[in-house]
Amino acid sequence: MKSASVCSVLAILLLACMPHPVEAAPRRPPVQRVSGPAYVRLTDWARSRGLEFRWLKKDDTLQLSGQSSRLLFNVDSNDADVNGVGVRLLFPVAIRDGLPCLSQLDSQMTLEPILSAPRSRRGASITRICLDPGHGGIDSGNRVGSHQEKAYTLLLAQELAAQLTRAGYKVTLTRDTDRFIELSERAAIAKRRSADLFISLHFNSAPNSANTVRGAEVYCMTPVGAPSTNARGEGSGAGWYPGNRLNDKNVYLAYELQKSVTKTLGTEDRGLHRARFAVLRDATMPAVLIEAGFMSNPAEGRKIFDAGYRKQIAKAIVDGITAYRKGTEQRG
Ligand SMILES: [Zn+2]
Repeated sequence: MKSASVCSVLAILLLACMPHPVEAAPRRPPVQRVSGPAYVRLTDWARSRGLEFRWLKKDDTLQLSGQSSRLLFNVDSNDADVNGVGVRLLFPVAIRDGLPCLSQLDSQMTLEPILSAPRSRRGASITRICLDPGHGGIDSGNRVGSHQEKAYTLLLAQELAAQLTRAGYKVTLTRDTDRFIELSERAAIAKRRSADLFISLHFNSAPNSANTVRGAEVYCMTPVGAPSTNARGEGSGAGWYPGNRLNDKNVYLAYELQKSVTKTLGTEDRGLHRARFAVLRDATMPAVLIEAGFMSNPAEGRKIFDAGYRKQIAKAIVDGITAYRKGTEQRG
């Protein structure tokens, strides 16, 4: 048995022995561990958040709803929908003792930061944003015909910088020309320039056989003890990195950007994902990586290569950042 599993079992035993507080809001539902990750019953979790539990299709699709929230889950699936936005869970929803359960990590590290925006300390504001145009120089990124990803990430970053500046933010870029920068250097640049947020910009590509694939996805750092949810995955149990320190803000920022980008562009919502990408691992401020569309999809590719569409992508990102700022800032 791995030491992480022993720790989890001990933690559960300790939790079970602890006296219940008279008042705690929201109260944490009891944790169960049958095999694999620790789980909480969705009925208990819903009750702890004041949400109503309902099967839309028995033992298949279920809904949790309240005054301002509606969450959809599918049994044996990582795909969830949180207020109309796709969220890829760290572990699938599972049936335990006949009841649907959610991993404790998803409860604490994915859903709670989305449903209860993490607050910054009073008076703190988001002023400086570091944009990271993916690839550059000898690293062209994805290629579709004569189109190279590195050119379009830079063009998008320049358009986004102009819009953010007009909106009152201070903007810095990891590169503003076609030059190569090591991945490890990108988060370091953001740190040296005292950025409040780090946003890495990319465009996706699928093999020729899958050129119908389209849509946007936003990534943030994978929590300790969970597998990444990107297509390549990275196994489970990877250690702690600086990028894990700000999990709640990473998730909330990724969520607001995923929502704004997919709603504004009307493209397919491929969901909020997790990955231990180098630029996210080393970030010392809230950080995300946006894959804003598929260059390999003929229709979406044509749009990405068009300046007018990139303006719309940039506008969606500005709106997502503004929503994040409003959600996290405390005035006074
Ligand atoms: Zn890329």
